[in-house]
Amino acid sequence: MSAKQPLQVTAIPAFADNYLWLIHDGQHAAVVDPGDAAPVEAALASLNLTLDAILLTHHHADHAGGVAALTAGRTIPVYGPARERIAGVDRPLSEGQQVVLPSLGLTLSVLDVPGHTAGHIAYVATGQRWLFCGDTLFAGGCGRLFEGTPQQMTASLQKFAALPDDTAVYCAHEYTVSNLRFAVAAEPGNVHIAERLEQAQQDRARGLATVPSTVGIEKRTNPFLRYREPAVIAALQAGGRLNGNDPVAAFAALREWKNSFR
Ligand SMILES: [Zn+2]
Repeated sequence: MSAKQPLQVTAIPAFADNYLWLIHDGQHAAVVDPGDAAPVEAALASLNLTLDAILLTHHHADHAGGVAALTAGRTIPVYGPARERIAGVDRPLSEGQQVVLPSLGLTLSVLDVPGHTAGHIAYVATGQRWLFCGDTLFAGGCGRLFEGTPQQMTASLQKFAALPDDTAVYCAHEYTVSNLRFAVAAEPGNVHIAERLEQAQQDRARGLATVPSTVGIEKRTNPFLRYREPAVIAALQAGGRLNGNDPVAAFAALREWKNSFR
């Protein structure tokens, strides 16, 4: 067996732009949103880890597709949203519940964050200040509203904004550069966005991940947390995308604009 290490989070790249998150201490591991089993098995083997739990945020196949293969030879709990039907989930969760993983010494709190899907949940490691937010919040952006309303999504994102600024945001896709290109259009005068875009482009050119970010960085640069800002409202109005200044209408207009932004 390998040596026990401090609890850490490792990115496992999958598909075109997904990150599957492996939480481990050098011996035991839990995986968040294993859309594909093969890269998870490869990571477990190369790091010599025992997989003790699977955590799912929502039902999309690029997040849950690896569950059947990963549980085939293991008896391990599979946590997931109580309000979505996902094959293999035997520990349904909703807000207010906790996940306790004794082998890792890790406790995670559950948040209900509907919007991208109807039952989407997120996991917060309060002690470590880690947020696993699936496809709800991205670096510089947010998930598409496939099953939920703008009202729901704004309430969900507000739960993340209320976390401590130094909370690390482990989102599930590398969308940062395109998100920040949109963010520049949505809030042209925000120098933090311009600087962050520059840094993200440099990181990607060197093959580096741009995530995790932090709640504080997202609050400064993510238009989907900044839809109440006068400059964002003004950009929406100037483009003929918003009448008035209702916050939820502004969020909905921003999301619509992003859907067609190139
Ligand atoms: Zn999704």
